[in-house]
Amino acid sequence: MAASFIKRGFKLTDDLKRADAVVVNTCTVRQRAEDKAISQIGRLRVWKKNHPEGKIFIAGCAAQKLGGKNLKHRFPFVDEVIGAKDIDKVDAVVEVYFGGSLDVHELPVTSNQLPVNDESLSITDYRLPVTDYQSPISAYVTAMRGCSLKCTYCIVPEVRGPALYLPPEEILAEAAAKAAAGAREIILLGQTVNAYAYKTPAGAISFADLLSRTSAIPGVSRVRFMSPHPLYFNADFFRVFRDNPKIARYVHLPVQSGSDRILKAMRRGYTRAEYLDIVAKIREAAPEAAVSTDFIVGYPGETEADFKETLSLVAASGISFAYCFKYSQRTDAAGLAPDLGEAEMEERLSRLLAEVKKNSSDILNKRIGRIEEVLLEAEDSGRTSANFIVRLDRETGLKPGSLIRAEITGVSKNTLKGRLIS
Ligand code: SAH
Ligand code: SF4
Repeated sequence: MAASFIKRGFKLTDDLKRADAVVVNTCTVRQRAEDKAISQIGRLRVWKKNHPEGKIFIAGCAAQKLGGKNLKHRFPFVDEVIGAKDIDKVDAVVEVYFGGSLDVHELPVTSNQLPVNDESLSITDYRLPVTDYQSPISAYVTAMRGCSLKCTYCIVPEVRGPALYLPPEEILAEAAAKAAAGAREIILLGQTVNAYAYKTPAGAISFADLLSRTSAIPGVSRVRFMSPHPLYFNADFFRVFRDNPKIARYVHLPVQSGSDRILKAMRRGYTRAEYLDIVAKIREAAPEAAVSTDFIVGYPGETEADFKETLSLVAASGISFAYCFKYSQRTDAAGLAPDLGEAEMEERLSRLLAEVKKNSSDILNKRIGRIEEVLLEAEDSGRTSANFIVRLDRETGLKPGSLIRAEITGVSKNTLKGRLIS
């Protein structure tokens, strides 16, 4: 989406006062995300009053769910609503408003409006004018859109549609354009990204092939991916993961629950033992790899015993980090109303957070003494391949994007302390 503006002469800004257009990119995966989007749109009423020439675009999944008619009725000052399924039309919409003009415009971008982990950035025009575009060191590239699984609690298939794999040449061209513009790490995105498969006249391209090819792009030092699904791991993946050091030693592998009963009710398609088996295979391929996860607490029917299974999975899987969410009802299906009160949900959430924190701290401490390769994001800090943030003892004098080696000397909260070696 940003590319559609940039190629018409816009610059990104986080200063609303200087902006000519505002894009609110919305999420609806939990009720809270949708509520946040709505209140952000509401706040733009005053901006529009003071900038009557300014344009407001609402995009993404909440826009898809709530609908253009509804949103425009509620917020008459909004110019366009572009739902997640219409992501390909963004460029045409921007064309209608701003044509091909190369006047300098300012487009506000804040972490809320264009979240860095946004999976819906359009790739319809990724050939960015290189001079105008400086890529972040770590750049996201969409490999697939939508999802064809049917987890009971999830709204993604409804608002994004079924899984659609993008052609490998488009993915690789976007990654190459971003690498040419300064990216050193490419993060391949998709709801079940490791299910990636694409038929070409020269044969089928698998997820493992896509990882290898992305890692071979000039300038790319690391490749990450998010999120794989436990159902789609295969021997090819583990081989590439083991043999290619550019594939980050890190897998974010959402599990949702540690209880087989709840996993079944959620229709996740795997058991606790199968999940643990995949984690073991990741570690077998790369013993230094870190695994993180997502949990949902308070899914309808979750008993204290089920919840304890989730708690015990934290240590059993050795995860380094977890996003923990309270169940939020997003679908109308019967039996999916939450049956825990807010207080009970909070109580389970805080017990789980405490367990995750305790284990994360043990895992961070185990890294002390290791020599790690760090991709600098600033002159004195960066990330290891296993995705731990390292703060160095001194400025390196090197530019962000450089790879350095550091000895891990300690832990400070959620980050590692490191001594620069080379
Ligand atoms: N495709 C990924 C998850 C994408 S949604 C996967 O299946 O692994 C990101 C995370 O949001 C999920 O992992 C889940 O933990 C959380 N989430 C999704 N729907 C939710 C809901 N209705 N209530 C609470 N959390 C939810
Ligand atoms: Fe939602 Fe992920 Fe399940 Fe797809 S796999 S339905 S995106 S939770």
